[in-house]
Amino acid sequence: MVAERFRVSFAVSEVAPYAKVGGLADVAIALPKALMRQGLDVRIFVPRYRGVPADEAVIPDLMVPFAFGLRPAAVYRTWTHDLPIYAIDAPTYFDRDGIYGPPGQEYPDNVERYAFFSRAILEAIKRLGPPPHIIHCHDWQTGLIPLYLRTAYRGDPFYAHTATLFTVHNLAYQGLFDPGLLPHLGFGPEVFRTDGGIEFHGMASALKAGLVAATGISTVSPRYAQEIQTPEFGCGLDGLLRARRGDVIGILNGVDYEVWNPETDPHITRNYGPDSLEGKKECKIDLLKRMNLPVDVARPLIGSISRLVEQKGFDLIEQAAERMLHMNTSYVVLGSGDPKVEAFLGQLHRAFPDRVSVRFGFDDPLAHQIEAGTDLFLMPSRYEPCGLNQMYSLKYGTVPLVRGTGGLDDTIRNFDPHSRSGNGFKFYEYSADRLLEKLQEALSVYRQKDLWRTLMLNGMRTDFSWDRSAQQYVAVYRRLRAKISATLGHRSP
Ligand code: ADP
Repeated sequence: MVAERFRVSFAVSEVAPYAKVGGLADVAIALPKALMRQGLDVRIFVPRYRGVPADEAVIPDLMVPFAFGLRPAAVYRTWTHDLPIYAIDAPTYFDRDGIYGPPGQEYPDNVERYAFFSRAILEAIKRLGPPPHIIHCHDWQTGLIPLYLRTAYRGDPFYAHTATLFTVHNLAYQGLFDPGLLPHLGFGPEVFRTDGGIEFHGMASALKAGLVAATGISTVSPRYAQEIQTPEFGCGLDGLLRARRGDVIGILNGVDYEVWNPETDPHITRNYGPDSLEGKKECKIDLLKRMNLPVDVARPLIGSISRLVEQKGFDLIEQAAERMLHMNTSYVVLGSGDPKVEAFLGQLHRAFPDRVSVRFGFDDPLAHQIEAGTDLFLMPSRYEPCGLNQMYSLKYGTVPLVRGTGGLDDTIRNFDPHSRSGNGFKFYEYSADRLLEKLQEALSVYRQKDLWRTLMLNGMRTDFSWDRSAQQYVAVYRRLRAKISATLGHRSP
């Protein structure tokens, strides 16, 4: 008899390339691809935003219990990389210009939008059948799914054997809402309590719902899994996370080398790899021209690609910027977000028009061109659950200069010129002086071409492909399933 394939439903609020704000979107497609290579049967559920394709209506008439009645929705399916993406269609919620809101803002009804999405997924899964072994939820937007399973679907035989994994990609985004909304979303007053419930300082929290109700919890790097259990990084939830520490695991995100690989990247002017580094110089020339900077190939070019938010350390960059440029460097930035950060970057460009170039907005091809065309990638995050860009940079021979926190600490090892080991530069104390010291160190290696080449090659040969992480997820899924079966066995007479 052929063994039954393990079935996983992915519930996620972004998916690359159709709906992307940050790294979550990349994970939402790359991890399922890797799980499929492990033999799992994976379905991805996303909202049908404007950019999400909808090839085939698989459930034209989904009725979702919501807001004291039944609300209509539809489910469309599109295949990509042999994976089915199920798009939940509800135009009033998702047919909008932005994903979470206009640039730098949030839609006021976001909690309602994603609560509806969560409930609609649970109804869609039932209609599509058979029951998944795991529903894998991501961040606060799908944190209510485990809670719905424990309340509205309690005792539902369809879901009796389904376990949930809740992955925290960023603990700082909590989906807080007025508890007065709870009945509208379909929850009774019993969920609104501090201990074992979703109360959080007088508000209700969709993130906390995932943390208290999921069968297991994971986050996107081992280091961040430890950090969030401390008051410094726990965003007020460290106590809860410590209480569930046996259920919390950190699994490092990987890189999809079909998308992020300078040897095959269609967005860059010339492909290159560890055995053909000359192409990188052409990419640098192309980028300098594209960004309207003088074509001075010898001058070290630093890059950043980022959501422009406090987390990413732009206040440190602001303090360090002038001194950084006085070290004879140039700087290119692609990002969007906080208007204050955009204002600072705009000023920096005006003060150093020949050295600094910035682009605001979301531009995927340019992100690839910056990875290929820069020498150093600057990412001095205050905290970083995993971070993908530093791993992409390694593959492109662009040396990361990072702050040693979360996944940045897990993935970047300081280069030691004597042993010639290490793949980048990292500093720990959150200070502009420490950043500049590390930059100085990096630039002294940059001037020794042979050493720099070794450093680039160390990074280019570091393997962060998804397969190892996917194997870890499969092991977690199996443990969670066993946990559910054990509970059921325990309950049965
Ligand atoms: P986070 O998930 O916190 O935003 P990551 O480093 O994990 O940070 O992932 C960021 C992802 O988003 C990368 O793929 C990066 O290239 C992409 N990205 C961020 N900002 C932009 C932008 N303005 N244009 C294009 N891609 C961007």
